[in-house]
Amino acid sequence: MSFSSLGLSDEIVRAVTEHGYTVPTPIQLQAIPAVLSGGDLLAGAQTGTGKTAGFTLPILQRLSQAATKNPSGGHAPGHYPIRALMLTPTRELAAQVEESVRTYGKYTKLKSMVMFGGVNINPQIQRLRSRVDILVATPGRLLDHVQQKTVDLSHVEILVLDEADRMLDMGFIRDIKRVLALLPRHRQNLLFSATFSDEIKTLADGLLDKPALIEVARRNATAETVAQKVYKVDRERKRELLAHLIKEHNWHQVLVFTRTKHGANKLSEQLTKEGIPALAIHGNKSQAARTRALSEFKTGKLQVLVATDIAARGIDISELPHVVNFELPNVAEDYVHRIGRTGRAGSEGEAVSLVCIDEKKLLEGIERLIKREIPEVMLPGFEPDPSIKAEPIPNGQNRGGQQRSGGRGQPSGNRSGTPSAPRPRGPAGSGAGKPPLHRSGGRGR
Ligand code: AMP
Repeated sequence: MSFSSLGLSDEIVRAVTEHGYTVPTPIQLQAIPAVLSGGDLLAGAQTGTGKTAGFTLPILQRLSQAATKNPSGGHAPGHYPIRALMLTPTRELAAQVEESVRTYGKYTKLKSMVMFGGVNINPQIQRLRSRVDILVATPGRLLDHVQQKTVDLSHVEILVLDEADRMLDMGFIRDIKRVLALLPRHRQNLLFSATFSDEIKTLADGLLDKPALIEVARRNATAETVAQKVYKVDRERKRELLAHLIKEHNWHQVLVFTRTKHGANKLSEQLTKEGIPALAIHGNKSQAARTRALSEFKTGKLQVLVATDIAARGIDISELPHVVNFELPNVAEDYVHRIGRTGRAGSEGEAVSLVCIDEKKLLEGIERLIKREIPEVMLPGFEPDPSIKAEPIPNGQNRGGQQRSGGRGQPSGNRSGTPSAPRPRGPAGSGAGKPPLHRSGGRGR
């Protein structure tokens, strides 16, 4: 199966082929025809499946076809309204999606723009004065523009909510609803989400009209294939153990996850002091700092990148030799996301978790989710002190109360306690597509 046989035009197929892709991934095989048909779409897919091209390619095609038929789009000559809006949870993802739009759309006439917070708004206002067909934005900054009346969303034909579950986790639901209220009633809606909590289902029910439903397995490594280990260690000795492991085994390109931004900062500073070059990446860092840390890490200049789940999500780093859970995530599914960064497509990878007594329940939850026990290792000299008692983890599942931060860019840490629908875990690196779970009947194509 090729891109052209999916109904994509020569100009788009040419750009994709030049980019090095000739065979569509399972999500692309399903999403491209669905989007081209003009109907709504609900897609279960994670980063790594090729989902971005899955929606970008057919959107480019639909917009350029309509533009050919009616060059001024029915508007005043020279006035080009925003016709597609793609919302993403993080700046990194917004930047990556817009880069894909530019790459795949390079032989079309369509123009795109990326918009996110944490940078000066004025260049964005300036850019909005010229042609923007496709706008990729994070919700907060988009609403800043709405408030300043510098953006007009009244002609949007296609809306994409990318990583919708993350947007909800980050407290963006109200922002999303405010944006939806500004869009024309008749439009095509595409919702991509890695998980399907009740919250996502409610959002989808209100947003989508007889959507096509597709769901694919992760393309990257799954819990079954990554070599996983748990080091039992005391809370206060984790950093020491991590530094020991990195030095002892001469680990390079180590992605380390912490639960909080503060924890990420502290750990990266401490590792640096010990002679291990490390930087933290999270929502409070400037865009420039995040971009720099990421590029140094990718090129191998930076030995350790310390990240929070939210920051790591959406950034295209994978096939890493080492992923370390310095702290277990509060949401078990995040463990699967984290370790999916290593050992992709058959390459060797190891996921190590440093687990202290406070995290017993979190570990149990993870093992339940992945349906296996993770082998435990006790390193001589780092054996846990049995007299140390468990302490509550802020926002953790070992504490009764739940706390949603609701703030922009703040991870809530806890997913409202609602178990999400079980996700398929296909064979490693197989790319095996999964047939739709349930397809709603005729959508009047
Ligand atoms: P995504 O899930 O959209 O974040 O994409 C994951 C990675 O797969 C990105 O690095 C894409 O460039 C890459 N990719 C997308 N489509 C294809 C394809 N058809 N063949 C090979 N790689 C692809």
